Amino acid sequence: MKILVPVKRVVDYNVKVRVKPDQSGVDLANVKMSMNPFCEIAVEEAIRMKEKGLAEEIVAVSIGPVQAQETIRTALAMGADRGIHVTADTLVEPLAVAKILKAIVDEEQPGLVILGKQAIDDDTNATGQMLAALLGWPQAAFASKVEKDGDGLKVTREIDGGLQTLHIALPAIVTTDLRLNEPRYASLPNIMKAKRKPIDAKTPADYGVDIAPRLEVLKVAEPPKRQAGVKVESVADLVYKLKNEAGVL
Ligand code: AMP
Repeated sequence: MKILVPVKRVVDYNVKVRVKPDQSGVDLANVKMSMNPFCEIAVEEAIRMKEKGLAEEIVAVSIGPVQAQETIRTALAMGADRGIHVTADTLVEPLAVAKILKAIVDEEQPGLVILGKQAIDDDTNATGQMLAALLGWPQAAFASKVEKDGDGLKVTREIDGGLQTLHIALPAIVTTDLRLNEPRYASLPNIMKAKRKPIDAKTPADYGVDIAPRLEVLKVAEPPKRQAGVKVESVADLVYKLKNEAGVL
């Protein structure tokens, strides 16, 4: 089986993002970018499946500017076998990403696509679900455990207040939750080896996909600043404030 893993280049999770003064978006100048953490988990899961003999090849795909190749190299250094880079210098919305991925799936015929449950930049949490719909494939989103189960997979999903276990037939779409695994660090020899692994260069036009945005961002704003706390002198004072100032009693 071949596994396709879409990996997105996003602002590193340690960076405190700054909103642009004109509120049109987030300032990306001189900001550290990395692979989306949920995509790292997806790459790790694909590698573990390959190590268990459940897959023969892992293909990492990224849609984005030329620097997205670094994100693919990271996946290759972790253990993916080859990459596909689809160049896009403008923001690509989830529907366009899903359409490009659908065209790649039609070409590559993987048995499984593992995506992150969401990209931590736009938090849309939509691409995997849209891809499943476009392909007409079963999907198991927010996976916290993936096991082989006969001809398909048994997937444990994190849902509100508990866990749900599903059996899905292959080919299928899985999206990763935080607790699925802990991604490995690439070793230096593997980083060197990754430089020789192939990355195909493509464009959205190669797949016949128009990436013009369908959504208009009206405004991006910072969350309101938290008010400083106050120290109360006594329990009576606390109860008074909860009643009369916070209005929660
Ligand atoms: P989103 O639906 O934008 O929250 O992203 C969910 C997942 O879709 C990510 O974790 C990636 O696996 C995949 N994805 C989204 N955008 C891209 C992209 N530009 N290139 C590659 N994969 C992507």
